[in-house]
Amino acid sequence: MEKIYTIDDLMRVIEESGRNYDRARIMAAYQLAEQAHKQQVRRSGEPYISHPVAVAHILVGLGMDTETVVAALLHDVVEDTETTSEAIEKQFGKDVALMVNGVTKLGQVPFSTREEQQAENVRKMLLAMAQDVRVILIKLADRLHNMRTMDSMPPQKQLDKSLETMEVYAPLAHRLGIKSVKEELEDTALKFLDITAYGEIESQLKLRKDERSKFLQMIRERLTRRLTDENIHFHLESRVKSIYGIYRKVYMQGRAFDEIFDVYALRVIVDTANECYNVLGVVHDMFRPIPNRFKDYISTPKANMYQSLHTTVLDKEGIPFEIQIRTWDMHYIAEYGVAAHWKYKAGIGGKDTLEEKLAWVRQLLEAQQESDDVEDIVRTIKTDIAPEEVFVFTPKGDVLSLPSGSTVIDFAYAIHSAVGNRMQGAKIDGRIVPIDTVVKTGMIVEIITGNTKGPNRDWIKIVKTSEARNKIKSWFKKERREENIIEGRSELEREFRRNSIMLSEQQMNEFLLFLAEKQQMHTVEDFLAAIGYGGISLSKIIPRVKAEYIKRYRTTEEEKASQVLPKLTQKKSKVSSGVIVEGLDSCLVKFAQCCNPLPGDPIIGFITRGSGVSIHKADCPNVHNSMKDPEQVSRWVSAEWADNATRREVFKSAIDLLAHDRGLLLADVSITLSNMHIPIHALQAREMKDGMTAITLTLGTTNLEQLSNIMANLRKIEGVVEVKRSNQ
Ligand code: MN
Repeated sequence: MEKIYTIDDLMRVIEESGRNYDRARIMAAYQLAEQAHKQQVRRSGEPYISHPVAVAHILVGLGMDTETVVAALLHDVVEDTETTSEAIEKQFGKDVALMVNGVTKLGQVPFSTREEQQAENVRKMLLAMAQDVRVILIKLADRLHNMRTMDSMPPQKQLDKSLETMEVYAPLAHRLGIKSVKEELEDTALKFLDITAYGEIESQLKLRKDERSKFLQMIRERLTRRLTDENIHFHLESRVKSIYGIYRKVYMQGRAFDEIFDVYALRVIVDTANECYNVLGVVHDMFRPIPNRFKDYISTPKANMYQSLHTTVLDKEGIPFEIQIRTWDMHYIAEYGVAAHWKYKAGIGGKDTLEEKLAWVRQLLEAQQESDDVEDIVRTIKTDIAPEEVFVFTPKGDVLSLPSGSTVIDFAYAIHSAVGNRMQGAKIDGRIVPIDTVVKTGMIVEIITGNTKGPNRDWIKIVKTSEARNKIKSWFKKERREENIIEGRSELEREFRRNSIMLSEQQMNEFLLFLAEKQQMHTVEDFLAAIGYGGISLSKIIPRVKAEYIKRYRTTEEEKASQVLPKLTQKKSKVSSGVIVEGLDSCLVKFAQCCNPLPGDPIIGFITRGSGVSIHKADCPNVHNSMKDPEQVSRWVSAEWADNATRREVFKSAIDLLAHDRGLLLADVSITLSNMHIPIHALQAREMKDGMTAITLTLGTTNLEQLSNIMANLRKIEGVVEVKRSNQ
């Protein structure tokens, strides 16, 4: 027989909490729920309303706010009764309605948690779907009450729910640091999953209870006397390890029951972190510590924010026992995790952002230590709760995680490259969608395959993940060599024309072979094929190709080139800006700040409204974007550099440099530049992970050739890994 929870029980814990709940709102929610569930009974025979009241009861115990308690009372109303979400919103507001919807939605997530990775994805997906962390807390309380009352369920259902609790809900409670809920979920689930072991542990605990509690009482008295003498203000409590905690050590790690030192433990709670270490000193002075059993989770908190000192010591008779030492703040977080925020900090009406909730934890952690771990812990909790991934179902119910912004094509390739290569279309939640549709958490995505010719080249531009992009490229690489060569050749010819690279047939063959070898290709055809399938990005290498071309052929080819572009070059003498713009005799020219073109870079001009022509690099992303705009496209005009002699102006160029961090790195960089008489306009260095340093330099240069020399010299500096022009 289940315990029946009544509204009186709920009002009593609210009274006992001593906190200022909005009782009228809670009563109104109760009345609505009571009315809506009137006809329903639980399987065990109790009136259904007992369940939501019990869930609300648990949440008051965790210290949750009025809104959460109201939503808990209503959590099954939309799912199971005629009451609509709109009606709830009208009476109780948007917040409550959103929470109730959230809990309803989570209840509809199908589970197939055979593998650990799947369970992990499901947990993350629940967090992602919840948006408001209070939804997860309601769901956990809901599951906890259902586990407490599982006895009347059919055996198969007991097993399924217990497994799900063990794999998904208990780890979720652990992740959020809510210890009491985590332990009770595990213990109730274990009871169904391994009833024999559960019984054994229970009776072992009972057997030793008297003897142990006498022992602990004696230690308590000794500690109390000593700590009082030391003038430390403290609180002492004892705790018993959870049944599942013992189960893991005895049945999964194969320890004997006697070997588990922390079945019973004493806990000392003090006011400050300093006092924790003082108490530790006192404890180690009174009892002999067991080597390697001391753990300092204050300076190194666990991933779920847990902090304490743990030590195992021996009493005079050689009986080992564990002592945990922590401050009150650490204690609140150890017991209640994320929920501690509502219980101890925010108060009843508190509606803070996640950032504000975690700010408290961050402060607490930072007070004890100065390491980067603090940021790491806060960041992982945050990305767990608001992840940058989306979680999507296959029709079979497996959950796939993808970076947010991923499309249906990414999904197809994430399943298997054969699925992606044979994709014809896709369905989301049963409806046909365009294949560039972006997938969202909770969607069921089905890929329609057929005997297609393979992927489409345009997909390379649509996909979000590099995994999908590489798989598409490698298909083209393998399957379409002839086509790639043709595609590559025409792309190359186009670029060469745009950059006025003109050569005789023989010179061209020789030049292409040179370029191919530079790209580690054996033949010109391999080189062209690589351009064709996108393995080599032509827009990236063209500045170097052009520089090389100028170096090798320009002296002899100059005349030819000038014949090809009569319109532009004949005005050479008139220009003073150093740039010749198609169709404009004299015009105000300025250089775009976004890409800082340098003489030698392929360039293009944009006719601005009233301030002349703005010159960009031809491959500047802004150019690319603007060309897509039909209103702007006609304002782009060809432009090219006048001959070098007229260029005296100094250009600012930015360079990114990546190097292994070492003491004199910055000094070497500035010496190199000053030896070349290069002015430094700005220098910014940032520490990266793995002992790397990233430096951004803004330099004054006069042309591309000089810039290449600067970059070559920077590359010679010890420890420098990469030097490139930054794409500002
Ligand atoms: Mn429920």
